[in-house]
Amino acid sequence: MDIYDHPTFRMACQQFDLVADHLEIPESERARIKYPKRSLTVALPIHCDDGTVRVFSGYRVQHHLTLGPTKGGLRYHPEVMLGEVAALAMWMSWKCALTGLPYGGAKGGIACDPTKLSINELERLTRRYTQEMIPFIGPQVDVMAPDLGTNEQVMAWMMDTYSVYAGYTVPSIVTGKPVGLGGSLGRREATGRGVGYLVNRASDTIGLDMSKTTCVVQGFGNVGSVAALSLARYGAKVIAVSDVNGGIHNANGLDLWALEKFVAANKTVAGFPASEPITNEAMLLLPCDILVPAAMERQITEKNAARIQCRILAEAANGPTTPEADVILNQRPEIFVLPDVLCNAGGVVVSYFEWVQDLQSFFWGETEVVDKLFRILETAYTQILTLSRKQKLPMRMAALTLGIKRVQEAKKIRGLFP
Ligand code: NAD
Repeated sequence: MDIYDHPTFRMACQQFDLVADHLEIPESERARIKYPKRSLTVALPIHCDDGTVRVFSGYRVQHHLTLGPTKGGLRYHPEVMLGEVAALAMWMSWKCALTGLPYGGAKGGIACDPTKLSINELERLTRRYTQEMIPFIGPQVDVMAPDLGTNEQVMAWMMDTYSVYAGYTVPSIVTGKPVGLGGSLGRREATGRGVGYLVNRASDTIGLDMSKTTCVVQGFGNVGSVAALSLARYGAKVIAVSDVNGGIHNANGLDLWALEKFVAANKTVAGFPASEPITNEAMLLLPCDILVPAAMERQITEKNAARIQCRILAEAANGPTTPEADVILNQRPEIFVLPDVLCNAGGVVVSYFEWVQDLQSFFWGETEVVDKLFRILETAYTQILTLSRKQKLPMRMAALTLGIKRVQEAKKIRGLFP
């Protein structure tokens, strides 16, 4: 599958191969489970505000359709490539399977810098992408959601474009929409809230008192900012956060509520009063109890894995730790890893709730959403921890084993047509 060749795709394949060996999946079944079912690459021409026409590249990868429609985010970032999107789609498959959702994984992206586009250009780009995707998506085929660089507004434009094409309103085509358009209460907070819940459970597991913990969060976007607030509500002191412009540090703790206001006004954490600047690289090495990478892939590598100084590594981002770093972390039992496929699963779980609510046109209150979210995360956490202890597997191996095994079994039971 050379078309997907990319460091992140190689990383996802390496993880799969390890689990396939552990599960003793026959060679004849491996490629069918591992490689994406299908993908679409599109050229997206749009009129720019200065009168020129620019063409962007857009992608969508659907990893498997064995258990239902595919589900996964849409990413706007300058470095988005087909192989990266394919890796993210693969991880979505394992994540949906380990939480018991009736989905395969998918991911999409547009190679662009959303911060350098005007709101009108962003809208034109989003609508053109959605229009190009129409033959490939649908509420029973593939359902998108926000990811890095996209938000509720992007989902609203997608939903509107698809609905105009259909001739009637189709809220279930995307999740992570504004609540006023059929979005679910609690979806925006779901990923970060899930991170908080799982870190609290992990603290119980290793005997940490949350009220005495310190915490570092890389990336202060949708996931990172809500995770930081959620951890603070559990009693943790957040001492450093960052974004693409750099980080801020205060050993006595950052005032997160003031920081939220600062970021709303300045669009960055950099320059926040009552803090010292710190680089993203140095921040990952700060002594702390809870380290939360919530930005990009491949941040914890063989270069820094031996030097991170935390008790819990809570992977809010997708793929923040490379397989080489995993080898090092596996020799550091003092660090408890909450692997990405579990740690950030809160987002897709509440996306699933949103899709169910849209299909039934019957909406739930926030307490019901949060209660159901925590139940699903609790079950997944307990199953993964039990498997990890029983088979002496690192938490990532246990989580991937659970997810991949479920996909393998489903494919086996369905059989191979013709
Ligand atoms: P976002 O765009 O809202 O926020 C991303 C944040 O990371 C921003 O603060 C940005 O400035 C920062 N950032 C970008 N590049 C960086 C770099 N090189 N170093 C430091 N910071 C950097 O995106 P998000 O939705 O919060 O997604 C963050 C991560 O969480 C991604 O890996 C995404 O795939 C994953 N995730 C998101 C969701 C969701 O519901 N949005 C669900 C599951 C997983």
